[in-house]
Amino acid sequence: MGKLDGKVAVITAATSGMALATAKLFVQEGAYVFITGRRKDKLDEAVKAIGRNVTGIQGDASDLADLDRLYDTVKKKKGKDADDDKDESNWECPYCGTDNPATRNTCSNRECPLYRRAGRDWHKN
Ligand SMILES: [Zn+2]
Repeated sequence: MGKLDGKVAVITAATSGMALATAKLFVQEGAYVFITGRRKDKLDEAVKAIGRNVTGIQGDASDLADLDRLYDTVKKKKGKDADDDKDESNWECPYCGTDNPATRNTCSNRECPLYRRAGRDWHKN
């Protein structure tokens, strides 16, 4: 088990030198690493050298458009949708859309017709 298990790191210009060494170290410690480099051939070499848990993204980190693309890629590969974080045991009020915890069987919204009624049972039927 490494110190960085489950962590995601983005290391820019990591095709050589210290940055490449850092990327290797991170992967050894259990992280998933995204590395960037301007040159495709150098980038491929670096990805090969790191060997696993690495994605190479060609681009110039000083270029904002490239940075956007970089973070898009990272998000798609490793990011979580807001929906994933939502507790599945929550129930959504059919009247007002309020998200209520599973432990609560009435809608928490005072304006709602289900407020103080057994909203959860209604919802389940
Ligand atoms: Zn409601």
